[in-house]
Amino acid sequence: MKMSSDRPLILIIEDEPGIRRFLRVSLEQQGYRFVEAETGRQALVMIKSRPPDLIILDLGLPDMDGVEIIDFVRSWSKLPIIILSARNRDLDKVEALDRGADDYLTKPFSVSELHARLRVALRHCAQAVSADGEGVFESGLLRVDLDTRHVSVGGTQVHLTPIEYRLLTTLIANADRVLTQRYLREEVWGPYRSGGVHHLRVHMGNLRRKIEADPARPRLLRTEQGVGYRLSTEDVL
Ligand code: CA
Repeated sequence: MKMSSDRPLILIIEDEPGIRRFLRVSLEQQGYRFVEAETGRQALVMIKSRPPDLIILDLGLPDMDGVEIIDFVRSWSKLPIIILSARNRDLDKVEALDRGADDYLTKPFSVSELHARLRVALRHCAQAVSADGEGVFESGLLRVDLDTRHVSVGGTQVHLTPIEYRLLTTLIANADRVLTQRYLREEVWGPYRSGGVHHLRVHMGNLRRKIEADPARPRLLRTEQGVGYRLSTEDVL
C-alpha cells in the first residue's frame, strides 16, 4: 500500500448523493483523505491520474457496470476494492468478489461496519498474509499452530479432518475477509474436483461443532448470507 502521505487516500465511486454525503462525513471523522467520482468514466480518469489506496465502489453506476471498474483495476493493481451493493443483489456481490473485489457493504450500512471493512482491507493489503503462512493463529479460545498443525480450543486439542483443516487455514489466511463459496471450494478441493455447495456446508457445520463455543450462533466462522463465509476476529464484524 502506498502510504507516502500518512493518511490513506480513498476514492468513492457512487452516483447517489445521499450515500456520498454519508461516506464523506464518516471518512472525515476517521481522518481518511478521499476523492469522489459520480460516474464510471470520471472514476477511470481519476484512477489513472492519481491511483488511490482504496476504492469504495457502487456497482450500479449510471454509465457502466461497476464490475468493469474492478476488471480495469485488477489488470494492473491489487489495491483494495470494497463494493457497495443493494440488498437482494447477492449474485452481483458474488460476481464482484470472484472478479477481485475484496469486500462488500450492503446498503444501508452503519459507520461501524464501514470502518471495520476499511480497517480490514487496508491491513490485509499492508500485510499480504501468506496462504501457507507459518506461525500461530489465535482468536478467542481458538489456537492453531500452522507449523505443527495442532488445533486447540481453550487448551484442549481438537482433531480436524484434512478437509476441515484446509477449510480453516484458508479462512485464517484471509482472516476478516469474506470468501465466496466458489473460492473456498476451489481452495479446499482444487479447481477440477471442487466439492459442491452442499459439501462445503456440511464440512463447515462439522468445523463449527469442533471449534465454536455455540455452533448454532458462531462467532468465528460467520455465514455471509448468499455469498460465503468470513472468519471473524473482530466482534464488530
Ligand atoms: Ca447507484
